[in-house]
Amino acid sequence: MIAEAIFSGTELLLGQILNTNAQSLQQTLASMGIDLYHMVTVGDNRQRCADAILQAAARADLIFIGGGLGPTVDDVSREALSEALKLPLVHNETALKVVERGWQGADMPEAALVQALVPAGGEVLDNTIGIAPGILLEQRGKTFILLPGPPEEFELMLAEQAIPSLQSRYAEEFGIIQTRVLKICGTGESYLMGVIGDLFKSSSPTVSTCVKGSFLDLSITAKAEDELVARRAIENMEKTLRKRINQFIFGADRDTLPGVIGRLLERKGHSLAVAEELSGGRLANMLLNDPLSARVFAGGMVLREQVPVSQALPAKLTRPAGVPESEAAKGLASSIRKLTGSSVGMSVLGPSLQELQAGTRRMITVGIDLEDEVYAEETWLWDNKNQADLCAAEMALQSLWQLLQKLV
Ligand code: ATP
Ligand code: MG
Repeated sequence: MIAEAIFSGTELLLGQILNTNAQSLQQTLASMGIDLYHMVTVGDNRQRCADAILQAAARADLIFIGGGLGPTVDDVSREALSEALKLPLVHNETALKVVERGWQGADMPEAALVQALVPAGGEVLDNTIGIAPGILLEQRGKTFILLPGPPEEFELMLAEQAIPSLQSRYAEEFGIIQTRVLKICGTGESYLMGVIGDLFKSSSPTVSTCVKGSFLDLSITAKAEDELVARRAIENMEKTLRKRINQFIFGADRDTLPGVIGRLLERKGHSLAVAEELSGGRLANMLLNDPLSARVFAGGMVLREQVPVSQALPAKLTRPAGVPESEAAKGLASSIRKLTGSSVGMSVLGPSLQELQAGTRRMITVGIDLEDEVYAEETWLWDNKNQADLCAAEMALQSLWQLLQKLV
């Protein structure tokens, strides 16, 4: 079964709001194994919306139309569907009840009655949290589903009305799509193309990458008639991938790098403290925001290279002048570890924003002190200057994870 989605709203075309309804619909359809080949956005224009409906009906079986079900002249979906299919709009009692209930006893203006109109032959989808009823219409072997624009209403009506209705009508059509996401760090897409490029050509399951900050998601997606078959295909592909690139896979699905590190450290009874310069508190923030790393996070401090550090701070917590970057990073990692009484201390040193902007310095240095074994690693900062803090924090986590891999 092939679906197509049309989203109506000039505000979408102008970039004033993000099309979150598209994402909800895409995820829902993917989880049900319904293929979505095209998505179209049209402004609040009846003719263009009707044209989009006809075009969709020519190449899809299931046509979703989101938004434009309100009572104002810029709400054109109902009229567009009626025009495209040459079906008159007729008053519908069930729709009227939904609209009246939506007004909750308040004086209903005459204009609201337009929302009780449905193209002849259409069925009403209830709207339990808003006013506009949805519409499901089967015509010429195609199914048209109109859903209201406000995201809560769109999602609820999709989940509770439209999908159950489709499932009961076309039970035999739906396959299962399963996805497993391998979380990758320490390498990039070009390197992966060299070692697993052949697997990207697989059509079942498919393998694809998506850049997530300094890291990558490698998704394996299988479509099958039943869940077991899909899961087996994914397991086999994962085995093949792990044989080739296991050293870069830090987790899967909902795993995060701070979380994975937190789990590793906790298992060994470690605690972690950080001293950060370039990352400006991002690293501490990431470690605190993940429940798994929060459990082992002992604290941290943010340093500024350019500003003389207050006399009240231990001298060791200033960045020592005149020593190589790697020595400074090691010294700070050890100092923050001792100051907090942790077993692991980590520091992130790097260029100031001015140096980055001027392009005079681009190396970041990560220092790690793990129970008196002290390491330093230099990494090239690839990222654009606006995200340098995030990128530095991610590179620090990557260095720590790689080190823990070697030691465990
Ligand atoms: P209403 O009765 O509120 O007019 P409607 O069905 O006519 O509902 P629209 O007028 O198209 O829906 O949109 C109402 C509001 O819902 C928009 O102002 C916007 O904030 C939000 N909205 C509409 N479409 C989307 C979308 N695709 N993604 C996210 N939000 C949307
Ligand atoms: Mg509207």
